[in-house]
Amino acid sequence: MDYGKCEYCGGHIVEKLCTEDRRYNGELMVFRNVPIGICQKCGERYYKGPILETMEEMAQKKLKAVRVISVPEYEFTGVPLPQVMW
Ligand SMILES: [Zn+2]
Repeated sequence: MDYGKCEYCGGHIVEKLCTEDRRYNGELMVFRNVPIGICQKCGERYYKGPILETMEEMAQKKLKAVRVISVPEYEFTGVPLPQVMW
């Protein structure tokens, strides 16, 4: 698939098979081997419409997952600011 040039830096975009984390209806899903265009220069990711549609379709059909993984969840409480010494 042709991705053209990167719209941010004009770099060359190469398609790679990536692992994608997506959330559908609040549910986190991981897709493996998703073809995504990646700028060789700045790393910007480019998604083709049909690829996004396919992932959403797979999520909606609730196909049987290859495996189910557990993900650590954290309550963000803020980071204590370092003491400033004058
Ligand atoms: Zn770029």
